[in-house]
Amino acid sequence: MRLRTAARVILVGAPGVGKGTQSERLLQRFPQLSSISSGDLLRYNIRQRTPLGIKVESTIKAGKLVSDDLILRLIRNELNQRGWLLTRHTSDNVMTLSSSAIDLDSPPQHGSPNDAEMAAFLSSPAHARGGHGGHSLNEDPSASFLLDGFPRTATQAERLDEIVPINLAVSIRTPLQVIMDRIGGRWVHEASGRVYNTTFNAPKVPGRDDVTGEELVRRSDDSEEVYRERWKKFQETSEPLLEHYARKGVLWEVDGMSSDEITPKLLSKFEERFA
Ligand code: AMP
Repeated sequence: MRLRTAARVILVGAPGVGKGTQSERLLQRFPQLSSISSGDLLRYNIRQRTPLGIKVESTIKAGKLVSDDLILRLIRNELNQRGWLLTRHTSDNVMTLSSSAIDLDSPPQHGSPNDAEMAAFLSSPAHARGGHGGHSLNEDPSASFLLDGFPRTATQAERLDEIVPINLAVSIRTPLQVIMDRIGGRWVHEASGRVYNTTFNAPKVPGRDDVTGEELVRRSDDSEEVYRERWKKFQETSEPLLEHYARKGVLWEVDGMSSDEITPKLLSKFEERFA
């Protein structure tokens, strides 16, 4: 199905609530959508052994949140690589609004002042695929995206609004015990971020990715102890985050015990709002 207007969407929900699954299903239904998962980007940087990856590795293993500054650099770089940032055309140059959002003291410059520094500091899958830092009008339906795992705090949401305004914040709600049971069966394909579950979304061949046939792994932060820490952090930070989007009038909440229960509700919301 085609979108008629740009969807700039975030998915909010406790870790393990099925944000990745919903993203995949939305992407299948709406091919113009792309998704960015902050957790996947961080894990990509860890695998690439970038300075950012090395810096955040222990934080992620401990189930703590990466600092707002680091995560904003990462997301801003990714949005820029994909050409989704708001642009402002002046008489002789194009300035990203994001430049001033990240570094308020810098004067406007050509492109982004921190791109060179950022390229040395982190790595982007979009860049590896040959993406470029071009700028596009963000109301075009092709500039539609889904953010998964970002923003996680009200501060991140405020900073994101300065870079690119979100027009739908989806809050996915499933009871804690249901999620805890699910996490026990979760396996991922590291290179792509594809997620499987041995009880309700098993791979075709046990332990192997459906697309590449490569081995599936457990995520190092999926232990019960680490999960409790992440749940606690999510509870603490999500309330002000959701309030932020409620105030902006773009918050929509969806409840369900399983991803299959949530998907149809989410798809009809998208159709009504963007298609
Ligand atoms: P996720 O795959 O979204 O559950 O993220 C895995 C881990 O990456 C989290 O437990 C955090 O340590 C880190 N992380 C991901 N997104 C963010 C974010 N927006 N802010 C801070 N830390 C993040």
